[in-house]
Amino acid sequence: MTQVNKERMLAEFKEIVALPCHSLQERPVFELLKGKLEALGFTVEEDDAGEKLGGNCGNLWAFLPASAGVEGAVRVLLSAHMDGVEPCGGTTVIQKDGVLYSDGTTILGGDDKSGVEGILEGIRLLLEEGAPHGDIQILFTVCEEGGVNGSRCLDRSKLRADVGYALDGEGAPGEIVVGAPGQKKYKIDIIGRTAHGGLEPEKG
Ligand SMILES: [Zn+2]
Repeated sequence: MTQVNKERMLAEFKEIVALPCHSLQERPVFELLKGKLEALGFTVEEDDAGEKLGGNCGNLWAFLPASAGVEGAVRVLLSAHMDGVEPCGGTTVIQKDGVLYSDGTTILGGDDKSGVEGILEGIRLLLEEGAPHGDIQILFTVCEEGGVNGSRCLDRSKLRADVGYALDGEGAPGEIVVGAPGQKKYKIDIIGRTAHGGLEPEKG
């Protein structure tokens, strides 16, 4: 059975989370991922979600045609998002007892760089194995945090897959979400001292 290359995944995950990934400022992550996908044989395009949202970067669309002989196979889309919640100015990863942490000054960035890395490693294994595959499309979105804005503004004319998987969710590995009721937004003014809920909630 094909096994993921753990060292390769770890090194690449660290490389990706080391970049700042603020919502609407995903350009550094976009350029890094574009280079990696082109090296794997994908054609990479960018849509105009950045212009629509006032950011410096659009959604990344990458396409790899089916291998010879299976052109009619199901076309699969794999998706993850490039931005992270604050503070996400670039992570120094600390590994302790087999678990990854940030150094405490930023988030780790597992949401959603673990999805990004899972897609990259999965594609590499597929290509290394030489397994036949249908058309593969990858969509790395911008500005997911705060309301899936990159997805909302994506250029649907670029969509050419039959099924899609978004690698971004809570729960144990293998858990699949097939539906959700939606999202409601409230604007609430709260008076008090600000503190980061994940890093220092006791100061708030
Ligand atoms: Zn996410």
